[in-house]
Amino acid sequence: MRTKIVAGNWKMNKNLAETGVLLSELKTKFKESSEAKIIVAPTFTNLYYAFEELRDVDIDVAAQNMHQSESGAFTGEISVDMLKSVGVNVVILGHSERRAYFGETDELLEEKVNTALKHDMTVIFCFGEELEDRKSGNHFNVVESQLKNALFKLDNKAWDNIVLAYEPVWAIGTGETASPEQAQEMHAFIRKTIGDAFNTEVSEQVSILYGGSVKPTNAKEIFAKPDVDGGLIGGAALDPESFAAIANSF
Ligand code: PEP
Repeated sequence: MRTKIVAGNWKMNKNLAETGVLLSELKTKFKESSEAKIIVAPTFTNLYYAFEELRDVDIDVAAQNMHQSESGAFTGEISVDMLKSVGVNVVILGHSERRAYFGETDELLEEKVNTALKHDMTVIFCFGEELEDRKSGNHFNVVESQLKNALFKLDNKAWDNIVLAYEPVWAIGTGETASPEQAQEMHAFIRKTIGDAFNTEVSEQVSILYGGSVKPTNAKEIFAKPDVDGGLIGGAALDPESFAAIANSF
């Protein structure tokens, strides 16, 4: 059975005090019975604090990005070793905002993924088409090439530490959600693409999350689809009530 995951990407929100409030509210709201693994991704400055605060509960901490190099003269950047040294073993890579605003390409992301995996990090790899791609019917090709360019040189074993997050750009932060059927159609395509490139053992075990305006009102229906193994949540992750309700939708 594949791991179900609900991950909250806090983006550039919540200072230290606010992080404390959100974490303590979250801790009280999760049902022990939720089938999903819960992950939160606060900003870099609050990662260690979040790790310490969550030591006693089953909620993991993820970083929202990392640099591809091990160390060196890269002012303002964060390395994989720095993340690991503060207890962070999960990193989100390839988020559409990183691609759009910070020029992250598939080739750069391939490097980042390789560095993260070399250090036994779990990578939540984000990808997804833009609205024009969907309108022109090119969305399957775009998704396939994003996967191929960044992940297809991995060996089969590496997939134990990869989580995929399909996030159609047109659905992120827009209130527009892919329908459960659209999500399932793309997730099934992704799984088949991975199966063809590697093997079915790999494709059947990889968790594929959906991201894009997931809310308590639509989570259950989306998560019920057979190839949707959870969600990557943006806006709703900042509200403890909503995030807990989404996480408890399994
Ligand atoms: C995201 O940014 O990864 C995301 C899914 O955002 P939202 O849930 O706000 O659409």
